[in-house]
Amino acid sequence: MDKIAMKNDIEKQLKIKYGVGIEEATGGEIFSALSTSLMGLVVDNWKDTKEVYSTGKQAYYLSAEYLMGRALGNNLISLGIYEEVEELLKELGVDINAIEESEEDAALGNGGLGRLAACFIDSAAAMEVPLQGYGIRYSNGLFKQKFENGFQYEEADSWLTYGDPWSIRREREIVEVEFADMKVKAVPYDTPIIGYKSNNINTLRLWKCEAIEEFDFNSFNEGKYTKSIKLKNKADDVSRVLYPNDDMRAGKLLRLKQQYFLVSASIQDIISKHVSLHGEEFKEFAKLHAVQLNDTHPVLAIPEFIRILVDKYNVEIDEAIEISKKVFAYTNHTILAEALEKWDRSLIVKICPRIFEIIKVIDEKFIAELKVKGYSKIEIDEFRIINKGVVRMANLAIYIGFAVNGVAQLHTDILKDTELNNWYKLYPSKFQNKTNGITQRRWLRSCNKELSALITELLGNEDWVKNLALLKDLEKFKDDEAVLTRFMDIKHEKKVQLAKYLKEVDGIEVDPSSLFDIQVKRLHEYKRQLLNTLYILDLYYRIKENPEMKIPKSTFIYGAKAFPGYKRAKGIIKFTNDIANLINNDKDIDGKIKVVFVENYRVSYAEKLFPAADVSKQISTAGKEASGTGNMKFMLNGTPTVGTYDGANVEIVRESGEDNNFIFGLRIEDIEKIKSEYNSKEYYEKDPSLKRVIDTLIDGTFDDEGMGYYKDLYNSLVNENDQYYLLADFESMKKAEDQVFEAYADKMRWAKICFENTCNAGIFSSDRTILEYCSDIWNIKSTRNN
Ligand SMILES: *Cc1c(COP(=O)(O)O)cnc(C)c1O
Repeated sequence: MDKIAMKNDIEKQLKIKYGVGIEEATGGEIFSALSTSLMGLVVDNWKDTKEVYSTGKQAYYLSAEYLMGRALGNNLISLGIYEEVEELLKELGVDINAIEESEEDAALGNGGLGRLAACFIDSAAAMEVPLQGYGIRYSNGLFKQKFENGFQYEEADSWLTYGDPWSIRREREIVEVEFADMKVKAVPYDTPIIGYKSNNINTLRLWKCEAIEEFDFNSFNEGKYTKSIKLKNKADDVSRVLYPNDDMRAGKLLRLKQQYFLVSASIQDIISKHVSLHGEEFKEFAKLHAVQLNDTHPVLAIPEFIRILVDKYNVEIDEAIEISKKVFAYTNHTILAEALEKWDRSLIVKICPRIFEIIKVIDEKFIAELKVKGYSKIEIDEFRIINKGVVRMANLAIYIGFAVNGVAQLHTDILKDTELNNWYKLYPSKFQNKTNGITQRRWLRSCNKELSALITELLGNEDWVKNLALLKDLEKFKDDEAVLTRFMDIKHEKKVQLAKYLKEVDGIEVDPSSLFDIQVKRLHEYKRQLLNTLYILDLYYRIKENPEMKIPKSTFIYGAKAFPGYKRAKGIIKFTNDIANLINNDKDIDGKIKVVFVENYRVSYAEKLFPAADVSKQISTAGKEASGTGNMKFMLNGTPTVGTYDGANVEIVRESGEDNNFIFGLRIEDIEKIKSEYNSKEYYEKDPSLKRVIDTLIDGTFDDEGMGYYKDLYNSLVNENDQYYLLADFESMKKAEDQVFEAYADKMRWAKICFENTCNAGIFSSDRTILEYCSDIWNIKSTRNN
């Protein structure tokens, strides 16, 4: 990097964009100028990478969500110039941290699924894999969360107020998408995904929906201003907001429109590029392209692909279907029945009638195949894509997809053995496991520079940033007290930093020398934040009864957004904030325990929380969490898991050992056994400590201001038989926590536990995951630019 040229360019950008000099510029303006300047460094490699990739087979990741977070810091690290730019800014009297903090999060996703997509495209670029991401450029990402008197309120997220310097609008590559009632423009915005210390620059292409004609000039002239912008608004609506639901179905017309918009634009794009390179020849299409469907949201890509081949290029429909069977692969992310997408046929007919016709042909073809195989009518009904007036997106994806994968070993086993067992018997070879991963560039190298420096020093180089399996070599230091002490000093430093941030942003004081027990993830009953809250409330009562109780001073930290229409989730937030209020203001407790619910949990906040955690809380009901990736981020930053035997927790324990984690509670097979006789009332009546904390929901201890939240939570636990087995796991959670307190009190033992978690986290790199997709599903290879 040419420092002087860079400096001049930043100043020039500031002048052009904002008419200011660096002394007067705000953080946001400097962020924008610097980012624009950095774009100048990548454009050539970006263009070249595209050309290199187009010479071989490419894969495309179709996802309705990308939870990207901030770009600047990560891009500087990938370009290998973070320190240089930090220095340069310093010379200009500017603190790089403040500039990074000025960037808005791109929160175009809800939680794990969207963050996975973001990690995958980072890994693909770092691994020089020809993978392009396709998604929607929502004008408003996930809502901003505010607390008032403990209640969650939502505010619109307007991440684009100051523009997005990391994307380029590609006017030349606009495509048209046709709905039954209107035709719109899909405008591509491309973001470079910079390969870590590589010349490969991959692309994330997000589509924005716009009206073909921005406004109707004649109406405007006639003074009908409202009418003139009506079409514009109708088109804008399609990519206006991200649906805020996570793992819950929202069968809304607009959401279906969004899905069709995404897939139609993306598939047209893929096919037209293919045609311009290879002509109207589709027999070999699957040798050149693979499309990965991230959950069922983009599954309409299948009939859209067939539609284009048939209607535009005159391919026979049977042949088009056969081609599609070699192109599409599907990732299943959930076993929650309510999250499996189904659309009323009438909705699909209303939005894209031709797509429904094609789905019908696929369904009939499938039925015919099943008949030949000797399946009965009842069995066939189970498989059918269209059944009783609804279109089942997962069925379409599994029938056509050449590969179907779960996202952790346990999850894939559940799919094969129970949830999709009939499908597994029909197509055993389609089923695969691809355990999720996280990118170490963001989740260690960037968010924990202190630990990164120590690792680099111990290993002698930075190769681990591109090959996380190398962390295993740290094991030789596991009994080295000097190393362990430094490791824990860094943990303490990260806790001090988090404490400072909490004070600044949330106005809350916490003691960095207390144990930081952290549960951060979307709010959902199956994730059992409520179990954590009941546990803490019980701990509070026990301390009050027995002030001499020996436990380390502890801070319990939560971060979670609740789907705005999910009453129980909102009740759990209010309840947790209420117990925080009670505990934090009780003089008797004397700060022994403290409860903090951070506002507006998101990627950039997560980057401050994971490195500062002493305990990673992963307590979902066994069998419900497909994988989890938060658990991996904690582990990588040297934090043991306190959790259930669920999702990727199973693999975390397998890698780092039972002694280095605290596993408790019912396992899947236990739940299977007790399921039919389970009676939560028995637990409630039998265990006075459990009864005491549950009764606070109805005895006036707390006040939900007439919302009915607490009565409802009480009912869910006592009168609706506790669908998520909180009461059954309460006792064993207490025991696990006691073990944590005991282990934590022994500083060296604890240090070793933390260190071993980092040493064994290598396998949870999304680099590993993406390379598995390449070899086992897409059949593509790394392709270097230059
Ligand atoms: C990693 C991450 C998630 C996923 O967390 P889980 O604990 O796996 O559910 C959700 N939101 C954000 C902001 C994340 O960074």
